[in-house]
Amino acid sequence: MDEEEKSDKKEKRMKQKDLRMASQVLVLILVLILTYLVYSAAFSVCWLDPMWHLQALFANRFDMSMDTYFMEGLTRIFVPSVLILGAFVLLAILFGRIFCGWFCPFGTMLDYIEGMSPFRERLHLPDELNDPGIKYAILIGFLILSFMTSQEAFCEFCPAGTVVKGLTGHVIFFSIPIFAIVIFLGLFYGRKAWCSYLCPLGAFFALFTRFHLFGIRTNKEECTKCFMCNKACPMDVLVVENYIQEGKKINDPECIKCMNCVDACPKKILKFP
Ligand code: SF4
Ligand code: SF4
Ligand code: SF4
Repeated sequence: MDEEEKSDKKEKRMKQKDLRMASQVLVLILVLILTYLVYSAAFSVCWLDPMWHLQALFANRFDMSMDTYFMEGLTRIFVPSVLILGAFVLLAILFGRIFCGWFCPFGTMLDYIEGMSPFRERLHLPDELNDPGIKYAILIGFLILSFMTSQEAFCEFCPAGTVVKGLTGHVIFFSIPIFAIVIFLGLFYGRKAWCSYLCPLGAFFALFTRFHLFGIRTNKEECTKCFMCNKACPMDVLVVENYIQEGKKINDPECIKCMNCVDACPKKILKFP
């Protein structure tokens, strides 16, 4: 590969990173505008939230009877929720947790909080909390709770909802301390503390990553094992050990397709899509 070709590819990848940042900021602004100016109602923006639709299906107790849904749920929750959730699932089957890296407004906020924090990496999470498995337990717990209470249970605690609903003047009591804790975690441990360990929506999308179609491709032969990709990863994915050395594409449940590893690689051998 000559120098000109390498520089072309480098430029193209820089555009990928820029595209991701543009997408994040655009979605964040769109959600804030929709919430504040257009809907001006606490719950209308929930229609954009895959977690709300997932819970709505469980809150309706899986009553698949057409009579029930035709009368009260078919147009209100069931069909739109299945369709909207289906679109997010399709996205996850194609690109893994790309929602987390490119679209989630709360993930974007945490990205900026982590980036601007003067306290980052001053503390270390206790080993017991350093477990990405916790978020699956939280997801299952809240889906069971939604089923039992016929309510979208996590929305009472959701830190993202504190921001969105707060803009419309609607205070969700339990979510305020959770929001404060998550901001603290973001400042001291980075977005990973919420997105990798605790977020139930992150857990839902992570379920599709092992078999998603377009993972970041690796190249064992050209890798110099400089570990720059590992260092650049905000989710602490062991890119070299688990994927490059194994000759596999990156299909890690914690990979949010942020492209940091792609940009960090001096050999430019990590490729997406
Ligand atoms: S893990 Fe949760 S908060 Fe983080 S980016 Fe994904 S959906 Fe958003
Ligand atoms: S593996 Fe690469 S794309 Fe995935 S989260 Fe880590 S740095 Fe981002
Ligand atoms: S940054 Fe590139 S060359 Fe370095 S270890 Fe990662 S893939 Fe290999």
